[in-house]
Amino acid sequence: MTFDEFGLNEKILEAISYMGYEKASEIQELTIPAILDGHDILACAQTGTGKTAAFMLPILDHLAAADNHDLSTLVVVPTRELAIQINQQIQGFAYFLNINSVTVYGGRDGSDWDAESKALTKGTNIIVATPGKLISHLNLGYVQFDKIKHLVLDEADRMLDIGFYDDLMRILSYVPDNRQTLMFSATMPQKIRELASKILKNPVEFSTAVSKPAEGVLQAAYVVHENQKIPVINSLISNKPDLDSILVFSSTKRKVTEIVKSLKRAGNSVEGISSDLEQKEREDVLMRFRSRRTRVLVATDVLSRGIDIKDINLIINFDVPGSAEDYVHRVGRTARADKTGIAISFINEQDMEKFDRIEKLIEMEVLKIPVPPELGEGPVYKVRPQRRGGRPQGKRNFSSGRNPKQ
Ligand code: AMP
Repeated sequence: MTFDEFGLNEKILEAISYMGYEKASEIQELTIPAILDGHDILACAQTGTGKTAAFMLPILDHLAAADNHDLSTLVVVPTRELAIQINQQIQGFAYFLNINSVTVYGGRDGSDWDAESKALTKGTNIIVATPGKLISHLNLGYVQFDKIKHLVLDEADRMLDIGFYDDLMRILSYVPDNRQTLMFSATMPQKIRELASKILKNPVEFSTAVSKPAEGVLQAAYVVHENQKIPVINSLISNKPDLDSILVFSSTKRKVTEIVKSLKRAGNSVEGISSDLEQKEREDVLMRFRSRRTRVLVATDVLSRGIDIKDINLIINFDVPGSAEDYVHRVGRTARADKTGIAISFINEQDMEKFDRIEKLIEMEVLKIPVPPELGEGPVYKVRPQRRGGRPQGKRNFSSGRNPKQ
């Protein structure tokens, strides 16, 4: 389906055509008509599916028709990175419209406070905010949300995971009941359904192919001992000189530092990013990676969701992510919008069960590659057989001679 079939405002069509959008993605085809019709939405869609345009284009269409400078749209997101990224997309979509948007998020110096409070009180159509900073403004009493007509909660599951439930409820208490509410979430656990039942009115529900990485991603895994991970990543990266954009995820800041040090020693162009960095430094590191000045970026979980970096060739999960959903999100950084990419995970003995759960979620077995012989022998990949497919399959042990419960 092409975008002009939705009957969107001509200026929006012109802008997205400049941005290179030709055909609507699945989630866009599903949600845009319903949002244009004024329905509340509960949509299960991952980052990388085009969900930002899915909610923003129809909202912009409404705002273009209203042609005023009321603060009528509030987009609440879990992280500052996502806020920045959504705002950048809005600037693109609204390039030919007289509509403005402002981000509100923490971690900047005080000079942003005045600009934010001004935006929250007059003259801005759209606010894209993280809950904590928005609450700080709300606490001071000057925020005018009485004209809000569109409320978007993006990555709602992530917001609940971070512990923003109470903040969201507070924010909602400031927003008029007579509004359109659009809730997007990568997963649909019970707590999201409960939140949806509290805040949405007769929502139309949509789901794109749930929790599966994009089809263009080649997924593979090395089964390694923990102390083999650094040699394997070094060998992997040095043997792939043609890949110019590699993103490595690790579970801790300490490991990020260790990986960066080791890859640097081997002569690679590499930088690390974690919550230890100031906001400005994080943005600079991301910019160098985006512009291909840095070839390898090593990140903790801060980056795993929501960040829109195009054309990453290789994702490495140095550690298996804590949840299957996070795996899908990390792998979602590659092969975006019809591109192909590779995602490689390192599985040590402790993470085999975790990885097995991931394979169940994505409904496929990931190719296991043996550790290169010069780096020694890796462990044997074993999972409790009765857990595979949820069916009991006889009495095999988890690993030789061990009690499966240990
Ligand atoms: P999102 O899931 O909103 O983070 O979008 C992922 C990426 O896909 C962003 O870089 C968008 O600009 C891009 N994108 C979204 N929709 C389309 C489309 N219909 N055609 C081409 N690219 C798109």
